[in-house]
Parts: sequence; structure tokens; C-alpha cells
Amino acid sequence: MKIGIDIGGSHIASGIVLDKGKLVGKETRDIDVSSINNEKRAQNIILETIIGEIKILLERHDYSTKEISKIGIAVPGSPSKKCIRRLVNLHIKNFNIADELNKIYKTKIIIKNDGKCAGIAEKRYGALKEFDDCVFLCMGTGVGSAVFLNGKLLEPSKNPGFEFGHMIIEKKGIKCNCGNSGCYETYASMKRFKIKAIKSLRLSKDTQSEELQNYIRNNIKKPLVNKFINEYLDNVCIGLANISNIFEPQAICFGGSFSYYSDIFLPILEQKLTQYKFNKDSKIKLLSAKLKNDAGIIGATEL
Ligand SMILES: [Zn+2]
Repeated sequence: MKIGIDIGGSHIASGIVLDKGKLVGKETRDIDVSSINNEKRAQNIILETIIGEIKILLERHDYSTKEISKIGIAVPGSPSKKCIRRLVNLHIKNFNIADELNKIYKTKIIIKNDGKCAGIAEKRYGALKEFDDCVFLCMGTGVGSAVFLNGKLLEPSKNPGFEFGHMIIEKKGIKCNCGNSGCYETYASMKRFKIKAIKSLRLSKDTQSEELQNYIRNNIKKPLVNKFINEYLDNVCIGLANISNIFEPQAICFGGSFSYYSDIFLPILEQKLTQYKFNKDSKIKLLSAKLKNDAGIIGATEL
């Protein structure tokens, strides 16, 4: 059996994965980001959390450490073969997590960008299973991605690449964490969606994600809400049109918290995409992720 680990901005989830991506157990713990003020502390917290989760999973499902054939780690940013790198949220610059875990588990440890992991899982077992040419977009805090052509994941030899989130769609646009301005994710990520929704719809600053979902669902016909959604999806669609014109995918699958709005967003996006894209006659299926929050864990073990 394999262990998949998904390191997020504020939590770490681990799971036991069997053949064919079957997830049999999952354990999630929040990380208190506010208590992290230096890299060493962040490294210790990440390691302790992972070790704690694996211990519980092994006990609960009656496995021993020796039975772990592989540990796969999905992580944001540009990880190298052994290291987590540039995890800004958690103050990590470069952390050789593979060597640390190897001291304990003595098994194969693989690290990959989380968008790629989730994309691989959706391609093999989820919404993209039937498509050879397809794109996975994880719309959450940022925009993660994976592109498949002829059934194969496209991968540059050095960095993960496919940083669609940092594709510039507005020359003098909103300042992005990467240092540039006008990056796609400063308009299209769900983090920005929420910030903008609270401002445009004059909601309380403490509005939680679920409350926002309910508010939008219940008020979708109101002109102010409708205008806000249309402006947001216009920006999302500029990126989709660029991606579609370059890769000509048969399908695009959306993961991250964007997928909670699929029933509202996808029909509007379908119309807009036809209007924006170059090949008016090609039909692109827009789909919601199937594996949701488990995709990163499952995909990490498939590498
Ligand atoms: Zn950027």
C-alpha cells in the first residue's frame, strides 16, 4: 500500500491508497500558520503532522511501516525531487523532506506539484478519464494546473511549468504575490473571488465560504450579484480561451473550491468560451472535478 500526502496552505491531509487509486483511509490536520515564524519551526510542524497522521492511519487500518511501498507528496509551488521549495505561506524556502521521511520509513519518496497530482488523479480515475487531450485547473487559493495531450502529462524537465495562474491577462493589473501585475490568478482564483464578492456585494468581512455560496445561490437573479458573477467569469474565460487556443483540449476540468459553484458557473462559462475562443467550431466540455479534496492524495501516489 502507498501513502499519499497533500500539503495545503493551512492543513495537511494524508491517506492510505491501494491499487487503482483506491483511497481507504484519510486523516487531516490543520496547521496553525500564525504560530510559524521561522523556517525551522515550519519544517518541524510539517514533519510532526505527517508522522502523526501516518501513525494513526497505520494503526487504524492495521498496517505496519514496512508495508508502505511508496510515499507521494503533493505540494504547492515548484518542488524538486527531494525538496519542498518556496512555500511562501509556511515560510519554507527549501526543505529536504524526502531525506527526513526516509530516515523513518525507508521507502521510495516522491514529491510533485499539487496541481499536477490532482490532475493525474482526475485523468486516471475521475472526470477526465475518457479524454486524451484535456486540462485540469485547480481554482483555489491560486490556480494550479495539469495538461494532458495524447493521454500524456506534459512536463518540462526542470520546473513544473504550466503556471497558468501567472499568465498575465492585464498589463497594468492587480499586483500578484509573484511580484508581477495582472496575473490570471489575481482575477480568477477563488481567493480573489471571495475578497471581491465581499467588497462588491457589500457583505460582512467575516463571511465564511459556505455563507457566501448560499448568499450567491439565493440571490443569483439580483442585478448586483448577476453583474458580479458575470464580470468574474469574463476574467476566468479570458484564461480559458488562451489555454484552449494553445492546447485545443477536448475537456477542461475544474477542481478546488470553484467546483462547489459548478452548477452556476459552468453553463455561463460554456457560452462565454464559445464567444472568446479562436476555433468557434471545436466543442470543449467543461467539467467539475470528481475526486474533490482526495485528488491530491491519490495523484501523489500515482507518480
Ligand atoms: Zn503572479
